[in-house]
Amino acid sequence: MTAPVVPGLAEALEALPKVELHCHVEGTMRPATVSDLAAANEVDLPVADPTELYRYDSLDGFLRVFWLVQSVLVTQGDWARLAYESAVDGAAHGLVYRESFFTPARHLAAGRTLAEVVAGLDEGLAAAEAETGVRVALILDFDRDFGAAAAEETVDALLALRRAGATGVERVVGVGYDSTEIGQEPGWYAEAFRRAGAAGLRRTAHQGEDSGPEAIAACVDLLGAERIDHGLSILEDPDVTSRFVDDQIALTVCPSSNIRIANAFPTLAEHVFPEMRHRGLLATLNTDDPALTDLDLGREYRAVASAFGWGWDTMVDIALDGVAACWLPDDGKAVLRARVEDARTTLRPPPG
Ligand SMILES: [Zn+2]
Repeated sequence: MTAPVVPGLAEALEALPKVELHCHVEGTMRPATVSDLAAANEVDLPVADPTELYRYDSLDGFLRVFWLVQSVLVTQGDWARLAYESAVDGAAHGLVYRESFFTPARHLAAGRTLAEVVAGLDEGLAAAEAETGVRVALILDFDRDFGAAAAEETVDALLALRRAGATGVERVVGVGYDSTEIGQEPGWYAEAFRRAGAAGLRRTAHQGEDSGPEAIAACVDLLGAERIDHGLSILEDPDVTSRFVDDQIALTVCPSSNIRIANAFPTLAEHVFPEMRHRGLLATLNTDDPALTDLDLGREYRAVASAFGWGWDTMVDIALDGVAACWLPDDGKAVLRARVEDARTTLRPPPG
């Protein structure tokens, strides 16, 4: 049983200005867009209704669907449409700033260029920003399924675009890695992350969803990761936990995704998110792949508030931790922080 959300809280959580640091742009693809692009690009879908694809028994089971959804993206215009819809859909649920992953490995292997992917994303995001006021930065994720050499080639391609002043490349503020954790070692990617860090790019890493706390620590030690995406296993090691608390290394946690994709916990109420925050970890709240899990950021805030019996001020504090963990410069963070604090007062629901 979960506690009911008090009247007014649901609406306030929807309107609360929110930051998101763990969301894959490919995982925001509307089912109708999956169908349209599959038809346009002659990609066979195994079902007529893409929503039927969106059922998973494991992280790797999810990844097979994620890769299928990625495969319908072919042209620069496809990326622009995806990015536009992604940001507009986020803004409709209170998103004001997002650092969004994109994972181009499959497209580069298929002969597309990083320049057209980045230019397409930039075109769609710029249109959505002008329409809604939301702001979106990009994180280029390496797909571990393609290995370390591909990651190094990709970071070199990104740095070449920066030198050339390519369209949209200034939007890419960092790198990370995602995809399968099984049979992988963080250290394999040290050179790719080193090159990115040397060029001033920020660094994050998906870890601890299907791997232990030693792998989480290795991302910091070997990759220079400033954030960890998921980090679910961190509490298994008190020393790693203490280090993350002391240094306030952020975790970008996606509770509903962990239930629906990784089946890491039977129900939301059993998720470690409250324990993470109770221990003093900078654990932020995010959706991961909202369209593929029937989710949006407003729903995620409501679901967490309901599952853990959290009220308005706790949820506003979570939103502020998203601001603290983002990669905007200090003045940009201050503007966002003031906006969230202002909403704490102006949107405060009536006492229940
Ligand atoms: Zn993710």
